[in-house]
Amino acid sequence: MLMYMIIYNEPLSRHTSFKIGGPAYCWIEPENSDGILEAINFIEAKNKKFIILGKGTNLLVKDEGFNGAIIHLAKGFEKIETEKEVIIKAGAGLSLARLTKYAFDNSLAGCEFLAGLPGNLCGAIFMNAGVRSLECPAEFIEIKDIILDVEILDLKDRKIKTLDKRDIDFKYRSSGLERKIILGARLKLEKDNKINIQDRIKAFNKKRDWLAKIGFPNAGSIFKNPSPYKSAGMLIESCGLKGKRIGDAEISKVHANIIVNLGKATANDVLGLIDLARAGVKQKFDINLELELKII
Ligand SMILES: Cc1cc2nc3c(=O)[nH]c(=O)nc-3n(C[C@H](O)[C@H](O)[C@H](O)COP(=O)(O)OP(=O)(O)OC[C@H]3O[C@@H](n4cnc5c(N)ncnc54)[C@H](O)[C@@H]3O)c2cc1C
Repeated sequence: MLMYMIIYNEPLSRHTSFKIGGPAYCWIEPENSDGILEAINFIEAKNKKFIILGKGTNLLVKDEGFNGAIIHLAKGFEKIETEKEVIIKAGAGLSLARLTKYAFDNSLAGCEFLAGLPGNLCGAIFMNAGVRSLECPAEFIEIKDIILDVEILDLKDRKIKTLDKRDIDFKYRSSGLERKIILGARLKLEKDNKINIQDRIKAFNKKRDWLAKIGFPNAGSIFKNPSPYKSAGMLIESCGLKGKRIGDAEISKVHANIIVNLGKATANDVLGLIDLARAGVKQKFDINLELELKII
């Protein structure tokens, strides 16, 4: 019996929040870590590459697709439990919505800022996802702030290891966890009453109200902010690019650091807008915008 589920020629537009992207050679959902190793052996025997995908909310897949395997950690990686009162152990495939709901149900505070983010725990760790703090908008709260350690499968020696937070090179929207498969993590939270937790979730969500106005499929921020005081969105807007359209892709009229798929946008349309925004900001401000979006 195979320890993974496999589908060939799977359209990746089904698995990205952008709803864009050609097919992968195959889509694999392993049952457990042995299933991941078995799947990797299969992929290597076929001489293909592979990529790990969470919920696909920070991703642009090219129109030609990916001639390799996508490994998606789903069932089997969604477990969540409490260890020692304030420590949560969660699987990589758990959605951030379920993580924050679990914390709330157990009167655990500290991860309220993740409540409105659409990804899975693995993607959030890999990206060091975060939001601006409620108290000081120039500062970010990031997932690294609540992580104790991360369980990974190291692709160098195919061994499962636990990496202490101090040994992970977390930076703004990056973790340095390339060549590793994130399997899960332990998060350190704190006890609080549910009313306080609910109030903070509401406050974080209120700050994200404007996202509802975007109205079309997207992948969140396209570029990293060059600094906490200089947002990529403001720079792109200052170049007069808000609402600029190529094919069915558009620089959102609501927020210039978001590109939306108006219906039938291709990855090439999105890449065209990325080039335009980059060139505009370079010319006007002499700033090189760095991509937050991952491109396959
Ligand atoms: C509307 C909207 C709003 C957003 N708002 C925010 C925000 O406020 N703050 C923020 O930080 N982000 C935001 N994002 C971006 C995104 O939701 C986060 O970065 C999220 O954490 C990505 O999670 P994911 O599971 O979708 O990752 P994916 O997009 O699937 O993957 C992201 C990267 O992680 C890698 N990866 C995924 N799983 C693993 C694994 N198990 N092991 C190793 N590598 C892995 C992938 O290969 C890829 O390079 C937003 C996105 C959208 C669409």
